[in-house]
Amino acid sequence: MPEGHTIHALADRLGRAFAGGPVEASSPQGRFSDEAKRLDGEVVQLARAVGKHLFVEFPDETLHVHLGLIGSFPVKPLGGRPPVEPRGALRLRLLNDDFVADLRGPITCELLDDPQVSSIEAALGPDPLDPAADPERAWDRIRLRRKTIAELLMDQSVLAGVGNVYRCEVLHRHRTNPFTLGTQLKRGTWERIWADLVDLLPLGVAFSQILTLDDQVAEAQLMVADGSTEPIIRESTGERLGGHFERRFAVYQRTGLACPRCGKTVRDKDVAGRRLYWCANCQRRH
Ligand SMILES: [Zn+2]
Repeated sequence: MPEGHTIHALADRLGRAFAGGPVEASSPQGRFSDEAKRLDGEVVQLARAVGKHLFVEFPDETLHVHLGLIGSFPVKPLGGRPPVEPRGALRLRLLNDDFVADLRGPITCELLDDPQVSSIEAALGPDPLDPAADPERAWDRIRLRRKTIAELLMDQSVLAGVGNVYRCEVLHRHRTNPFTLGTQLKRGTWERIWADLVDLLPLGVAFSQILTLDDQVAEAQLMVADGSTEPIIRESTGERLGGHFERRFAVYQRTGLACPRCGKTVRDKDVAGRRLYWCANCQRRH
């Protein structure tokens, strides 16, 4: 499932391609035809993400999209050529003279008014990619819950945007046992996890790939600081994962392999329907 950084990158991309001008909207598949007609010819004001939710604001209403497990919404430059003929289950196509964006397979695609948008946002926890986010709101939802931190980090009403890869990796980075209950988690541990997510997620946005290993994070941060990520960001259409860095993790999908920190075996377990990966040695229960 796309994690929050993917949706933020998508919002940036849609904004660069469409904001400030009118857009042609259509639903070649037919399932969103009436709504697409309402958007057709309207001006895109802004595209933004809150966690895994995408909001594209038009003058009178807002397009709300959640990609779910298999959805995709690539934004491609036309380069002076006409767009390719729509094929398959294409829910929504946005088009202008320079770009085409094709939405397929979302679990949510709907038009909302402002109160409806507000109510979705109110139900979400703080998003580490939002500079104005208040981590106390998440802490208030963690510290009283007798659920594991592994579950709480993925609960979008606690924290918006974190998915399975980031939760496994960030718990490993902070040597935190994933089965620690919210009521048992130390405030300092939560503060370090939040601060780390605030550092890590923008790298995910910039490179369209999740980076959590210290060597890759350090190199990525240098590239962000000197602006050399700009061409990577501009060339990414969102069709595939970024490829600047080798796809490597400490624990995610590494069952049976050695933990890069201590050499002991990485384990896995199904928790609330998603596979959790952790090192039972350096993420020991205290
Ligand atoms: Zn270890």
